[in-house]
Amino acid sequence: MVTSTLDRPDRLTAAHAPPKISLLDRARRVAIETARIHADDVDKQARFPREAIEALRKEHLLSAGIPRELGGGGADIVELGTICEALAQECAATGMIYAMHVIQVACIVRHHANAPFFGAFLRDICERQLLLASVTSEVGVGGETRTSIAAVVREAGRYTVEKNATTISYGAEADALLLTARASANAAPGDQVLVLLCSGEYSLEKKSNWDTLGMRGTCSPAFHVRASGPDDRILPVPFATISSETMVPYSHILWSSAWLGIATSALARARAFVRMQARSKPGAVPPGALRLAEASSQLQLMSNNVYEVADEWHRLTIRPDAEHDDALSSIALALKMNNLKIATSQLVVDIVNRALSICGIHGYRNDSTFAVGRHLRDAHSAALMVANDRIYNNNASLLLVLKDD
Ligand SMILES: Cc1cc2nc3c(=O)[nH]c(=O)nc-3n(C[C@H](O)[C@H](O)[C@H](O)COP(=O)(O)OP(=O)(O)OC[C@H]3O[C@@H](n4cnc5c(N)ncnc54)[C@H](O)[C@@H]3O)c2cc1C
Repeated sequence: MVTSTLDRPDRLTAAHAPPKISLLDRARRVAIETARIHADDVDKQARFPREAIEALRKEHLLSAGIPRELGGGGADIVELGTICEALAQECAATGMIYAMHVIQVACIVRHHANAPFFGAFLRDICERQLLLASVTSEVGVGGETRTSIAAVVREAGRYTVEKNATTISYGAEADALLLTARASANAAPGDQVLVLLCSGEYSLEKKSNWDTLGMRGTCSPAFHVRASGPDDRILPVPFATISSETMVPYSHILWSSAWLGIATSALARARAFVRMQARSKPGAVPPGALRLAEASSQLQLMSNNVYEVADEWHRLTIRPDAEHDDALSSIALALKMNNLKIATSQLVVDIVNRALSICGIHGYRNDSTFAVGRHLRDAHSAALMVANDRIYNNNASLLLVLKDD
């Protein structure tokens, strides 16, 4: 039995003010000076990348997505994506953990509707650099995040909830969890709320190990979750709205950014390999150069897709309210977000495969500087993080009702 994360006194107050260099520069520093060094060990031991996450805390990057007036970094989704990408280039688990945390924070930032408890909690994230995890999937509904079996029960100003979660990434390491459940015992499966489970108000019973092909450092076993606390922990907006306006778009953009980091890193190794071949036989074009050119065009396609959709999302969110509400809930935008996830989850595997074929046995060996085995294993998680077939099915329905312009 793993009890809820203990308060960590060392984190109660920030040791220093946020450094005055850009968020991306701080992320690159964490990536290169810390995440890179521990990435192989994190993968080998399937352990939490604690050094990189601590470094992110020291750089105040766990509050990068929180508005400045609350003490955060005020980063928009494009900047948050570049941070995920930079981290994932060195350690995909770190990049993905960061992405998952930022998605949870965004749900609170964008949907707390000025509720006093959540305003205070956001300031707390900034001061104590709290790490948030997600409990959306559930035994019995799988990855269908818009359906819950678990239900919140409210009584006398308090809530209780129990949930059998299939997967909670870094659940045992997180400082708080955001959990989906039906709004009440009588609510329909799709009538959901999002509840913040604060430290000391929940317990986790571990139900499986996490010995996986890839993304081993995310430490994402199954847990039985039990929680109880004041009912102001329930976000005052239906999860249907939070999901379509924030959780899904943020997930698809930031996951894609992390996968872009994996693909970029694998291709950098392939490029270094081809250059090494070129140096060994001056005057001759190495055999891998053509494959490298092909892969580089795939990487550009992936990168353009990620940045174009992230930028479009950012531009829509800064429009005046009335316009922005319609645009954010449009079918066309939902399709675009889903298409981004499907395309990048496939491209990342394709690009890493190409890098492997360019590097040959040097890419296949785990002890080589050109190794891409970890990249390939991590990349294969992309299609499963909400199964692509589920998303294709959603798109099939959306396309039937999409109006022509
Ligand atoms: C690295 C990683 C970290 C994760 N972290 C978290 C986390 O922190 N919190 C969390 O809540 N979840 C997390 N998940 C997601 C979670 O693990 C899965 O969504 C959930 O466990 C369901 O997994 P599943 O493969 O059984 O998917 P399911 O969606 O149940 O799919 C199982 C199979 O059925 C097929 N299928 C299902 N539905 C359809 C459909 N409508 N049409 C066609 N085919 C369908 C799928 O293609 C697949 O082959 C994570 C996943 C990964 C890979």
